[in-house]
Amino acid sequence: TVGCVALDAQGNIAAGTSTGGMTNKKWGRIGDSPVIGAGTYADNNTCGVSSTGHGEYFIRYVVAYDIAALMKYKGLSLEEAAKEVVMQKLVEKGGTGGVVALDRQGNVAMPFNTAGMFRGYIKEKDKPMVFIYKDE
Ligand code: ASP
Repeated sequence: TVGCVALDAQGNIAAGTSTGGMTNKKWGRIGDSPVIGAGTYADNNTCGVSSTGHGEYFIRYVVAYDIAALMKYKGLSLEEAAKEVVMQKLVEKGGTGGVVALDRQGNVAMPFNTAGMFRGYIKEKDKPMVFIYKDE
């Protein structure tokens, strides 16, 4: 996966995710990366999310949207919402992976429930941005 989430000085949040898919995937499999709400999601009122991991789980549990929804409807912080989805909900279901996420204040959360996830972020004045890279 290569994914990123960015926030501009006007408060617009964008997210993008690209992937080669899973090893030995079936021909025609799409995965979660291009599915909005699963592997990728952005909403100026809550957060942007880009995911990596076992895509079927991210689609089934609408992972990227679920993080935004927990913020919007339960009032969780980005950190709390991302942790609940990745470290609790996904773990309970057996879904492996992680996310990078950024909220409208520029807070960053990058939880993962696997052994590792290459990740990083750059923060410029009024322009935070996060990105991930993971080799399958
Ligand atoms: N999430 C991707 C998929 O399931 C795999 C990855 O790049 O992490 O297709």
